[in-house]
Amino acid sequence: MTQIDMLPPLREVLAAHDLEPRKALGQNFLLDLNLTAKIARQAAPLDETTVVEIGPGPGGLTRALLAEGARRVIAIEKDTRCLPALQEIADAYPGRLDILSGDALAIDIAQQASGRFKLVANLPYNVGTQILLNLVTTALWPPQWDSLTLMFQREVAHRIVARAGDDHYGRLGVLCGWRTEAEILFDVPPQAFTPPPKVTSSVVRLIPRPAPAQASLATLEVVTANAFGQRRKMLRQSLKALGGEALLQAAGIDPQRRAETLSVAEFVTLANLVDQRRTANSKEG
Ligand code: SAM
Repeated sequence: MTQIDMLPPLREVLAAHDLEPRKALGQNFLLDLNLTAKIARQAAPLDETTVVEIGPGPGGLTRALLAEGARRVIAIEKDTRCLPALQEIADAYPGRLDILSGDALAIDIAQQASGRFKLVANLPYNVGTQILLNLVTTALWPPQWDSLTLMFQREVAHRIVARAGDDHYGRLGVLCGWRTEAEILFDVPPQAFTPPPKVTSSVVRLIPRPAPAQASLATLEVVTANAFGQRRKMLRQSLKALGGEALLQAAGIDPQRRAETLSVAEFVTLANLVDQRRTANSKEG
């Protein structure tokens, strides 16, 4: 195993701080510094960069980000048992690691970064999906972040990058595809983690599109929720409450199609038409 810094191996860190992994916090640690370095490199270049890391745990990925040259890392960890181990890393990289103790879902990440940032994380998938959605649906666009490099269960990773016609295509794929370019970089087998999870994981990178097609996020969410809420039904049925057949014909979309066949651009067209029709109706009324 390559020595990336002068700190002790992660197994020793776990033992020294009595860091028995806790299932309730989704703790599957990466102890191979070659692998954490490989993940950190996906977010390169890191010099001149503020990196927000969520869920640093004992700090394997944190150490890799600092060793790769990140100017500043802000690490947000919910488990207070990890704080002494993280403090040792902060001491080894003076002035470059800020440790925030708390629940990342309750913290305003953009405000903490107070400028441009990249986000890198190996998180429990439910927390990761919520943080991803929060960052992709931010009101301000282009956003404050330059990239998101995130580990997910492989199935969730496939949902993020899915396009029309893919089995995994749904709301997550439409929202991520609308505002970002998302790609799966590589898989990580269960044995790479301590303890090993049941399924394979994948590292996903998302880059914001500078100018996604204009649409109201709220309306796009309603259209995708309706369309995929009854994904086996024809759109004229699943979108009935939003205008059904007339709406689809106005958009030039065959009403007999199903949600999973619609491209992101077609969802955007539908959302804009729904808004236009609402505005027209409210003027008439
Ligand atoms: N990044 C470390 C690694 O790769 O070895 C730890 C990964 S472990 C899968 C997930 C980490 O996220 C744990 O340290 C856990 O305590 C932390 N965590 C879980 N939920 C969190 C939350 N809501 N906010 C911040 N950290 C959280």
